[in-house]
Amino acid sequence: MERTFAIIKPDAVERNVTGKVIAMIEEAGFKVVGMKKILLSKSQVEGFYYVHKERPFFGDLCAFMSRGPVITLVLEKENAIADWRTLMGATNPANAAEGTIRKSLGVSIEENTVHGSDSPESASFEIPYFFNQLELV
Ligand code: UDP
Repeated sequence: MERTFAIIKPDAVERNVTGKVIAMIEEAGFKVVGMKKILLSKSQVEGFYYVHKERPFFGDLCAFMSRGPVITLVLEKENAIADWRTLMGATNPANAAEGTIRKSLGVSIEENTVHGSDSPESASFEIPYFFNQLELV
């Protein structure tokens, strides 16, 4: 079994589609082992996305991710990291495959509804950034 980290981003919370996202997660065979709704400060988002700090969209991305609540999740299944990236779809919803969350629900390359760890190293940083051991069940 493998664990990965996911965020349902502010654009989805604002549009009341978090239930649709969680339904797609469960239908794809993931177990939700941790979940919470939080409002991130700008500096908490900057710490989370520090690997992107040199990229031109970093400022806008941090403003977007802190403009309203998000839902953070830890997902478990075999091959969870790669399978969650597949279910999310391409970064730009316009390029995302049919049946993916970003194709179904994404708004733009920035407001693309979901985040997912891109490697075991990312998951090992991202999961404990938000959850302690007692919150994963
Ligand atoms: N992003 C953006 N503009 C871009 C590329 C990415 O606003 O040109 C945002 C988008 O919300 C994306 C996040 O930055 O999900 C992280 O980018 P990354 O390239 O890691 O994409 P992901 O791994 O989320 O598909």
